[in-house]
Amino acid sequence: MAKFHKILTDWYQENKRDLPWRENKDAYFVWVSEIILQQTRVDQGIGYFLRFTKQFPTIKSLALAQENDVLKIWQGLGYYSRARNMHFAAQQIILEHNGKFPNTYDKIEKLKGVGNYTASAIASIAFGLPCAAIDGNVYRVLSRIFGIKTPIDSTTGKKEFRELADQLIDTHNPGNYNEAIMEFGALQCTPKNPGCNSCPFKNQCIALSNNEINELPVKSNKIKIRHRYFNYLYIKHKEDIFLEKREGKDIWQNLFQLPLIESEKSVSIEELLQQNQFRSTFDPNQIVIHSISNEIIHLLSHQKLHVRFIEIVLLKPIKNQKWIMTHENALAEYPLPKLITNYLMDK
Ligand code: SF4
Repeated sequence: MAKFHKILTDWYQENKRDLPWRENKDAYFVWVSEIILQQTRVDQGIGYFLRFTKQFPTIKSLALAQENDVLKIWQGLGYYSRARNMHFAAQQIILEHNGKFPNTYDKIEKLKGVGNYTASAIASIAFGLPCAAIDGNVYRVLSRIFGIKTPIDSTTGKKEFRELADQLIDTHNPGNYNEAIMEFGALQCTPKNPGCNSCPFKNQCIALSNNEINELPVKSNKIKIRHRYFNYLYIKHKEDIFLEKREGKDIWQNLFQLPLIESEKSVSIEELLQQNQFRSTFDPNQIVIHSISNEIIHLLSHQKLHVRFIEIVLLKPIKNQKWIMTHENALAEYPLPKLITNYLMDK
């Protein structure tokens, strides 16, 4: 389409939001903002970006940080592996690139946790390289304007969109172009109720003329959701609470949580109390089950957690090698999944 990038970047010039990461095209700041925005909406992301860059203003300060401090700043964003990867990648930059952010696409993509999209965004915005960044916004915009029905999560679809995006990019100012198309997807061509009436592409948009806006982009929906059953124990002795650290390759790795008994299916409280994991820790005569919450559903991208909190008051202290006893006022010092902080805040 003739002048595609001109229409787009003119729209951007008039409509772009003032965002803190747009004040500075430094690769480190672009990287931090891009990773945060993969996790959350812009309005929430601003606070995280400002806190993160205040605490870790340079690659070096991030590389030297304690992992717990990085996770703590990330708390509430989810996908904690992204924060751990950034921490690791900052150390990679110090060791392998003398502390200078690498300035080619290939080197950027080799940083831990940096995929094709992020590498393209950093390479174009910070270094002016002609790399088209394709995120969910871009898939939506291109599929609608060009009426593409190939599923965006298929190999063929990814190739088709990549080829089109590479043809459309403004090679003179690729960073501005990438920011423009993503902003256009976020503000104008939104998933629901896009602003077609005021859209500069309304005369060319195939989805609009075919009345197919809500059908595009197409996804093959192959993602299988895994159901998991979490029984969290809020164990109290006087003013102390127990926590444990999540280990192994699983969600929320290295974060802290209330002691967990995971079951294969939904179990009654009586069944739970009979489980070895419970019986080997607690003497039924030395505890009071104070309350049991209703089931809470917590959705992750590929998992549906069925969660219940069981509040237990200990009449006598107990010991468990895996658990950490902490004063209830000190809970805020630990990086915790949002699910747990929400529960603790409501208590
Ligand atoms: S006309 Fe509507 S669907 Fe088409 S690009 Fe514009 S906002 Fe998106």
